[in-house]
Amino acid sequence: MPARESMRTAQRFGDRSRARACVEKMRRYLLAILCVLLPIVATAGAGAADADTDPRLKGRPFDSERAYRYLLRQCEFGYRVPGTAAHEECAQWLEQELSSRADRVAVDRFKVKVGDTRLPLTNIVATFNPKGEGHILLCAHWDTRPTADRDSDPSNHEKPILGANDGASGVAVLLEIARALAVDPPKQRVTIVLFDGEDYGQTLSDMFLGSRAFAERYSGPRVDWGVLLDMVGDRDLRLPYEEHSLKQSPATVERIWAAAGRAGSKAFVSEPGPPILDDHVFLLQKGIPCVNVIDFDYPYWHTRADTPDKCSADSLGQVGRAVLRAIAEDEAGWQSSEVR
Ligand SMILES: [Zn+2]
Repeated sequence: MPARESMRTAQRFGDRSRARACVEKMRRYLLAILCVLLPIVATAGAGAADADTDPRLKGRPFDSERAYRYLLRQCEFGYRVPGTAAHEECAQWLEQELSSRADRVAVDRFKVKVGDTRLPLTNIVATFNPKGEGHILLCAHWDTRPTADRDSDPSNHEKPILGANDGASGVAVLLEIARALAVDPPKQRVTIVLFDGEDYGQTLSDMFLGSRAFAERYSGPRVDWGVLLDMVGDRDLRLPYEEHSLKQSPATVERIWAAAGRAGSKAFVSEPGPPILDDHVFLLQKGIPCVNVIDFDYPYWHTRADTPDKCSADSLGQVGRAVLRAIAEDEAGWQSSEVR
């Protein structure tokens, strides 16, 4: 394994020997979760598969094709690398899109010292029903990586990636969710945050810049549960549990994966996945129960080939409907034990 690859793997997956040492502990978590999940999935039945037709839930249709168009639109701006014109243009577009949907939008512009430069970054925070009961956080990173350092062609390593999946996919789902929530406002407060600077650097100290800043300064109302969407557009989508999420907020994992099953998604699989260092880790450290929905098995990760043709509307739809279903179930006051 080349040094570069082992470094990247170590960054994302953490210490494998430590992970192995935790296997026993994780098994216990999984067993506990499966004991709760299996009866729910079994009793949900095929007839309750579509959130939009369940009369006990509000109907908030998720338009997969429109979500895919949101993905394409972001890629049309070009490489959304902090400090570039394309990045700034995309930020303005995202602000406009969310401003037309949410009750309020805050654009948080700040600078972070990276090497010799002070990098201009923008987190975009949209709030729905600010006086609502309960609080849900939905987030994704919107920036794209300046270096295709996993590309098979070394001459591409210093070039940026388009980030159709790694960047645009999570944002696309959130923009379509924002549209659905604007048409049929939620009972809860829902905050959508688009993080900047997730994928900027070569080392951990200059990655996850937007989520770190958000978590450090967060002083808003307590978050009941949250979801981070990252790399959710893969045509061949498969979403196991992410290990940090499972360990630190098993109830939120259960909530999302169970809702996904009831929404008819086949992509959310009740299996353990690897620990992934992503924006949610910094939220979890601050006590915000935010879990990561991610398909890290993506051969085009950090390559020039992370382009829209590797993504599908259907994958975006499976994720969007799962999240909307989880919001609606929470809104209806459902506890897992009440679901039939
Ligand atoms: Zn990335």
